[in-house]
Amino acid sequence: MNRRLQISIRGAVQGVGFRPFIFRLASEMNLNGFVYNSTLGVFIEAEGTKEDLDKFVIRIEKEKPSIAFISGMEFSFLDTIGFAEFEIRKSKKEKENTTLILPDIAVCGDCLNEMKDPLNQRYRYPFINCTNCGPRFSIIESLPYDRPNTSMKNFEMCDECFSEYENPLNRRFHAQPIACPNCGPHITLLNNKGNFISTHETALEQTVELIKDRKIIALKGLGGFQLIADAGNNDVVNRLRKRKQRDEKPFALMFPSIDSIKDACFVSDFEERLLCSPEAPIVLLNKKNTSNIADSVSPENPNLGVMLPYTPLHYLLLKDLNFAIIATSGNLSEEPMCIDENDALATLGNIADFFLVHNRPIVRHVDDSIVRIVLNKEMVLRRARGYAPFPINLSETKKSETVLALGGHLKNSIAIKVGQNAFISQHIGDLSTDKSYKAFTQTIIDFQKLYEFKPEKIICDLHPDYLSTKYAESLNKNLTMVQHHYAHVASCRAENQVSGRALGVSWDGAGYGFDGTIWGGEFFISNDNSFEHIGQLRQFSLPGGEKAIKEGRRSALGLLFEIFGNEIFEKEDLCIQSNFSKGELNILKEMLNKKINTPKTSSAGRLFDAVSSLLNVSQQANYEGQSAMKLEFAVDPKENSHYQFDIHEGEKLIVDWEEIINSILQDIMKGIGIAKAAAKFHNTMAKIILSVAELVGEEKVIFSGGCFQNAYLTEKSVNLLSENGYKVYLHQRVPPNDGGLSLGQIAAAYVKHDKRKMNFRKRELQEI
Ligand SMILES: [Zn+2]
Ligand SMILES: [Zn+2]
Repeated sequence: MNRRLQISIRGAVQGVGFRPFIFRLASEMNLNGFVYNSTLGVFIEAEGTKEDLDKFVIRIEKEKPSIAFISGMEFSFLDTIGFAEFEIRKSKKEKENTTLILPDIAVCGDCLNEMKDPLNQRYRYPFINCTNCGPRFSIIESLPYDRPNTSMKNFEMCDECFSEYENPLNRRFHAQPIACPNCGPHITLLNNKGNFISTHETALEQTVELIKDRKIIALKGLGGFQLIADAGNNDVVNRLRKRKQRDEKPFALMFPSIDSIKDACFVSDFEERLLCSPEAPIVLLNKKNTSNIADSVSPENPNLGVMLPYTPLHYLLLKDLNFAIIATSGNLSEEPMCIDENDALATLGNIADFFLVHNRPIVRHVDDSIVRIVLNKEMVLRRARGYAPFPINLSETKKSETVLALGGHLKNSIAIKVGQNAFISQHIGDLSTDKSYKAFTQTIIDFQKLYEFKPEKIICDLHPDYLSTKYAESLNKNLTMVQHHYAHVASCRAENQVSGRALGVSWDGAGYGFDGTIWGGEFFISNDNSFEHIGQLRQFSLPGGEKAIKEGRRSALGLLFEIFGNEIFEKEDLCIQSNFSKGELNILKEMLNKKINTPKTSSAGRLFDAVSSLLNVSQQANYEGQSAMKLEFAVDPKENSHYQFDIHEGEKLIVDWEEIINSILQDIMKGIGIAKAAAKFHNTMAKIILSVAELVGEEKVIFSGGCFQNAYLTEKSVNLLSENGYKVYLHQRVPPNDGGLSLGQIAAAYVKHDKRKMNFRKRELQEI
């Protein structure tokens, strides 16, 4: 099946023979489509098989004219249009005067070569950069992007730098962050009381020795502080876990080279391209058994999140260390990264032993982005450094209104719509901490200032208790509320430019439903101008409400209570007795019977948690999604069978899991083993999607919501649907989790909620 690949490339690619190069490459590979320049960069569309298009992407990077430099490349696989040839189209000027703020760009090869050259004036200089690389979004205070409007404004260029800056033939012509050891920023090593230890090269050498000596360092990086330490040593990793109060959530790693990553992990061509790209995100990879990374880095988890050095300072450290380090956000759990020294010393003083800082101010926090390859395509899980705030092009926007969308509550991001473009902010985080909430309000002010933007319309979630909702209401403006799960569908629909009717499958942990219950296992019919909520998983009670998010055993109890009622408190064979104390069970029994703090939910995420608990894979999660992840990791991929289930067709489709749970209980009695049962459950969830798709009869199916970060579930479901003739759309550039809500809110704002009652059987008959 052919696909259409849409690529946007930014960097020094205009006027260097880039379009003819693309034309030749596409013609040679027999791809049809077009290429053109616009004020936002070079845009390419090409149609061909997935395999050829993958090769096309890799060859663009490898074979581009030597003078061309790519500082960012994002692409999406879309439906074909049917181009008859490949053509070079006329340059296009964007209708709106869209201000383009570039994301931060990983240090380039030319700068690295200079940094390694003892005769170069920037030899071992940690802030070397040029027009093709270096900080952008993290140093811009206001526009236009000129040095006085960046955090480099207080560094006066020396004569050498100035002559490079002024010379149109120089690689640093108008490179705003240009700097050298004589005039630019420098590093300083401090102890955790903030006392001066050393500076410049000595600070670097001492930091390297401290890391070898198993100390924890707070490093002021590009978009905020990171905590770094030897990743090969369990003692130091456990010390960091203890001090950061982070029990099991995996730490990201930075490796000295792509070869060292290949020693520790399995790396495909696509993953290698991503690791070495100017965006340089954290890539989730499968770790090898032979890896010498400490087990405590990602306990009971087959994956590692790895990246390559992306600033000159990281390069110098990793080159001298020559082993992998932990490079995790310098923050307390779920807060934004610290960006200035004083805040970092106050927040991280009890975690880090030493601080390696510098005197170039960071204007805004920008976390490391996270990407994983699913079904041979990129899926961005956290969109920040290297990506934000590059816009997503909206295929059709009927209204010219400027819009501000405030996102959700967890993994918050905001977005604005100007003309045809949606600018999504960097990842902000969980709004329940004061610091994150402050970062949220600050980002809104920041975006309004940067884009000289006055929103005519505000969009927020339907949840009355989300702080983002309360903030939206306080603005007293034209406000639209968008249902959480529909926003997910709209987000995936927008980035894949889906048109016409499609089934939307929106599965996650929790969101506020139209009926005030907690949704999370939802089905929609989405169309260009309207949508309907057509079904969901059967609801069950969550004893303790919010507490159930971290304790899968509570979801399991709620499920069993729904099936068996009070019998479960007597039955010995349901593992309930072993998961709770007698006292807890007495209280929970009363809560369930009297319906006290036991909200109803249709959440797919909680269903995964419950099964994880029933199979005794995980009773309590240390971080969001851990129980479901452990269940995914337990799967035996050779097991292809599934459980039976019912779908009740009434006013809405209700997917009934009762038979699934009963069968799982029987399988536990039979002792078929966790791996087989976990696989059967995942296969069943995929089968549920297929059955709903068959009842609904739409060819296009959209997957969104945090559950689709589960690679096994996603791959199984996509394959099953594809085999049966359905076309599945997955997230690519925008996260499937709540980080993608802000885009979805913009896309959903003008779409009408159609509340007609459905009769599925009738429709199915008509369509036959
Ligand atoms: Zn450079
Ligand atoms: Zn200089």
